[in-house]
Amino acid sequence: MPRCAGSKPDGSPCERIVPGSQSYCYSHDPDRSDERRRNASRAGKSRPNKEIQDIKQSLSNLAEGVLAGSVDKGVGAVVSQIYNVLLRGVSVELKVREEQELEQRLEELETALQAREEGSRWG
Ligand SMILES: [Zn+2]
Repeated sequence: MPRCAGSKPDGSPCERIVPGSQSYCYSHDPDRSDERRRNASRAGKSRPNKEIQDIKQSLSNLAEGVLAGSVDKGVGAVVSQIYNVLLRGVSVELKVREEQELEQRLEELETALQAREEGSRWG
């Protein structure tokens, strides 16, 4: 069965099985480096990630305000509750996205597996 011709960051060979028509897996295919970059930057800058960062920053500012006495404890408690609800909502959104990505990878794997099975049947 064909294995990917690429190598891992540590220099050892990538051992992923690839469809017979390809020499590289998704991570190492030079033809798909642009696609990879696009996907990676999309994941890094995705809205939920940014939102979580913003909410965490706001919560941390709020905590500092309460500790310093510039924010009323009662107000701090209510606002932090609201932020927590927001955080939960954004986390769920992020999880759904991650699941969609996993599904996509699974499909790629199934395609590769199918190609392998066809290869062994006819080759
Ligand atoms: Zn590879």
